[in-house]
Amino acid sequence: MGSVPALSGIDKILIANRGEIALRVMRTARDMGIATVAVYSDADAVAPFVRFADEAVRIGPPTARESYLVINAILDAARTTGADAIHPGYGFLSENARFAEAVTEAGLVFIGPPASVIRELGSKQGAKRIAQKAGVPVVPGYHGDDQTELAARAKEIGFPVLVKASAGGGGKGMRVVRKASELDDAIDRARREAASAFGDDTLLLEKYLERPRHIEIQILGDTHGNVVHLNERECSIQRRHQKVIEEAPSVAIDAERRAAMGQAAVALGKAVGYVGAGTVEFIVPANQAEPDSLHLGAPDGSFYFLEVNTRLQVEHPVTELTTGLDLVREQIRIARGEALGYDAAPPPRGWAIEVRLCAEDPERDYLPTTGTLLAVAVPDTVRADLGVASGSEIGIHYDSMLGKIIAHAPTRREAAQVLRRALDQTWVPGLVTNREHLARILAHPAFLAGELDTHFLDDHAGELAARPPGLDRLRVAAIAATLHGIAARRGPDDLAPPGWRNVRGAAQQVTYKVGDSEIQIGYRPAPGGTIDFEIGGKTTHVPRFGVAGDELWFVEHGGQSPPGMPRHHRRQARVISSADRTYVLSEGLGVTLALQPRFPEHHAQAIAGGLVAPMPGKVVKVLVELGQSVLAGTPLVILEAMKMEHTVRAGDAGTVRALHVAVGDQVDTDRLLAVVTSSVA
Ligand code: ADP
Ligand code: ADP
Ligand code: MG
Repeated sequence: MGSVPALSGIDKILIANRGEIALRVMRTARDMGIATVAVYSDADAVAPFVRFADEAVRIGPPTARESYLVINAILDAARTTGADAIHPGYGFLSENARFAEAVTEAGLVFIGPPASVIRELGSKQGAKRIAQKAGVPVVPGYHGDDQTELAARAKEIGFPVLVKASAGGGGKGMRVVRKASELDDAIDRARREAASAFGDDTLLLEKYLERPRHIEIQILGDTHGNVVHLNERECSIQRRHQKVIEEAPSVAIDAERRAAMGQAAVALGKAVGYVGAGTVEFIVPANQAEPDSLHLGAPDGSFYFLEVNTRLQVEHPVTELTTGLDLVREQIRIARGEALGYDAAPPPRGWAIEVRLCAEDPERDYLPTTGTLLAVAVPDTVRADLGVASGSEIGIHYDSMLGKIIAHAPTRREAAQVLRRALDQTWVPGLVTNREHLARILAHPAFLAGELDTHFLDDHAGELAARPPGLDRLRVAAIAATLHGIAARRGPDDLAPPGWRNVRGAAQQVTYKVGDSEIQIGYRPAPGGTIDFEIGGKTTHVPRFGVAGDELWFVEHGGQSPPGMPRHHRRQARVISSADRTYVLSEGLGVTLALQPRFPEHHAQAIAGGLVAPMPGKVVKVLVELGQSVLAGTPLVILEAMKMEHTVRAGDAGTVRALHVAVGDQVDTDRLLAVVTSSVA
């Protein structure tokens, strides 16, 4: 009889996370014949991941600190349900060594590296020391223990420097400092953010590279001492140092550099006895001829280690699609004690690009948005890893990412085109998202040329900004919204056009508000069952239309169309209404139309000089006093939302006439914070 290796059986996994990643892990577990347990906060009681799980246990109120970050509550849930393993996902407790330890001590399998490895690599400080020892080039800087030395060391390193939270993640707790006079304030703020977001205010310094690409290497290690890499991902499209679009492979990495970076990542992994899935992050000067690399005295082809993420990464799908591996399955196999069974990555197959679909407004500095999703639909040409469904409420408690959409194609250009088209047809009405912004990035010539660095979004902000929709697009949206309303009033049995009984003889008028402008639309029945629409002095005849759920089509016949225009044009749109708002998606453009009352109410006048909260959040600092004179741009109040600080500044010079908030206050969007009026001379 041959000896059977001692493998841990895993029959039931508890996922200590929420949203898309909880679902992602559960899908693979289910495919492997493993039962799943969700844990959830009150905010997530009916979330898709809770409904998908075989069992689900409530662990506390919405605040992460009282639910997803409470180790005992999660362990209790594992005991109650008899789970034998815990998958931490990303974020939350995924890189918390104490958690990994507690899981193991409770006799459960932690699907991730051993606690000791998480501890060693979890601080960027420690990780950089290990990388240096393993011969991996690190970004020059100060990663020593003495926190009182930061200011002096920054001057030695030379500006610009980057102040970073050693325990940081998600781009938080990071400040670029360009001159000595900004240093103290930056250190102060970074420390506050670090303490609040990560419960650890240790900081480190790095030389700030002006134009890097973010390139990272996926690694896997098993319990038999094997560590392999699975090629690179490029994640240079970022806002606030946080990734928005990721891809594999990278146009900047040839086979030789891939091998060099892969070897460095594997060397680092072997140096710590890495087990599980991990990501070794690097920055690479975008242009080797530029001052960055010269300044750092780096040889051509250089790359610099940043940190290791000891968990599954948000952007793991691009690696899955280009290697054919299921990384969650690999994590579970490793946790069961199986050997990897391969010792090199296959060369990348085709190209994969991922976008992070977020509840945020790129036109308002990417501030998080809130609301209820009225529908969720993504075309089946792409992989959609979503955490939301129709009816999901997006609040302020968690990360703004709704999910990820990923395309895979033989070439980069094709992947970009497929993804862009899929975004055009992605239907997430009910709240503001970055959907159209992502589509514009994918269509941008510099993106298509592969000319990326971490400042891409800032550099191209002008070209990537939303343009107000043209009259033609608004006209289509307004007609679709109006037809949808007509159909809803007629009821389902009465959709056939003849007679337009409910469109009574006289012309009807509707006024919609779109953004700040108003559209007036008049319509009346015309002979032969046609409806005539009158918008902006233009008449459109609609001889036919149809509605099925939120899908609507209509044929338009433009009376004054120029010669050569098709006489009949069939248009399609998605339409859904909630209260007085109608959401229309047509040809990639989403338009929200607010039905205006016939006799508009008189809204309170905006207060002159009033400064309002641009997002829901908490007041963490009030920097001025009543009666104080301020200049245009003087910081007045600092708000914190989603662990990010946002400064509200005076628009014009003047005097602080009113202060309506104090430190600790929770405020909603548009809440009046302060009033500054120009001083009377
Ligand atoms: P990745 O490195 O996997 O691409 P990020 O570093 O942006 O992704 O962070 C992963 C996710 O986890 C993000 O959604 C981020 O907001 C969240 N996150 C990161 N750190 C924490 C933390 N300490 N607590 C909670 N969420 C976190
Ligand atoms: P996090 O833990 O938040 O992911 P990282 O150290 O991985 O922190 O950095 C996140 C991003 O910040 C990088 O992808 C890069 O865009 C930027 N960044 C980090 N360090 C530097 C640096 N030294 N110079 C320039 N940009 C940097
Ligand atoms: Mg990082």
